Amino acid sequence: MLRTLLLLAARSPRCRDFVTRSPLTRGVVRRFVAGDTLDATLPVLRQLTADRHVTVDYLGEDITDAEQASRTVDAYTHLLTALGEHGLAPRAEVSVKLSALGLALPRDGAQLALDHARQICEAAEAVGTTVTVDMEDHTTTDATLDIVHQLRVDFPRTGAVLQAYLRRTEADCRDLAVPGSRVRLCKGAYDEPATVAYRDRAEVDRSYVRCLRILMDGPGYPMVATHDPRLLRIAAFLARSAGRSADSYEYQMLYGVRTDLQAALADRGERVRVYVPYGEQWYGYFMRRLAERPANTAFFARALFAG
Ligand code: FAD
Repeated sequence: MLRTLLLLAARSPRCRDFVTRSPLTRGVVRRFVAGDTLDATLPVLRQLTADRHVTVDYLGEDITDAEQASRTVDAYTHLLTALGEHGLAPRAEVSVKLSALGLALPRDGAQLALDHARQICEAAEAVGTTVTVDMEDHTTTDATLDIVHQLRVDFPRTGAVLQAYLRRTEADCRDLAVPGSRVRLCKGAYDEPATVAYRDRAEVDRSYVRCLRILMDGPGYPMVATHDPRLLRIAAFLARSAGRSADSYEYQMLYGVRTDLQAALADRGERVRVYVPYGEQWYGYFMRRLAERPANTAFFARALFAG
């Protein structure tokens, strides 16, 4: 119930104005968002890449005009150039949301998002790194996978994301478990109807395991995106059973979440990649993080209403 309300609020301009205007939210937001600007984020990236990898997300989604979309491309190009100049590119890639590149625009949105994503892939290739295309709500799954498929023709290391809560995902895992493919498997962060998604947590977990088994047994590169200790243990077991070496898959976690687990896995010689968001458009991302864990909401509410 609370999760559904928070995810509805994530899409509400009125809630966004209320939350983003309060100076009291800043401290809580900082836990999940590395900085407002690239300059503020670079030291965080430098520190994390000492023993981990990162995927950097320039925050923004659901843009409403083409100009905003091309500003997003400029921000990513600038980010990728900086990753190259600061020597971070070997351990840093970027994550992009197609809704920030124009996917939802009524006129030729898909073509515009593809052209923009292509420019970002070119900038990534120029500094020797990769792009992973985030997955958004289920109405965009087909369009997103189609664009990833087209990007992979010229940029074969482009990563896809699949969400275990969607009923279709086992089949998508089979399609994407091909040589060279990079697939991030997560549970899924949006409020989806029962017609397309498992709503029960245990069912989502079971789907996650079925999907992960397909990816681990396949010839691609699985990216295990979860903080769930039970699923992490199962992932380690599936990797061993499939005879995988430590460099043939990776764990991924969010900036500010279970940093203890991140460090423990990295210490054991596992490859760990941290998803690091930055930028001023943090509202939607932040609300999804609150929705994932009720304790975050109590913490946030105290900060918001304390003044
Ligand atoms: P949960 O059962 O939700 O959490 C397990 C444990 O992790 C919790 O008990 C808690 O200890 C900790 N935890 C989890 N979330 C939080 C939090 N917000 N705050 C504090 N503690 C927390 N979703 C998409 O829909 N599309 C994407 O493209 C996408 N990309 C992602 C990339 C990465 C690297 C990761 C890690 C997640 C991504 N997600 C994405 C989000 C994902 O779908 C889940 O919503 C999120 O990871 C929480 O699920 P979980 O697997 O950690 O399990």
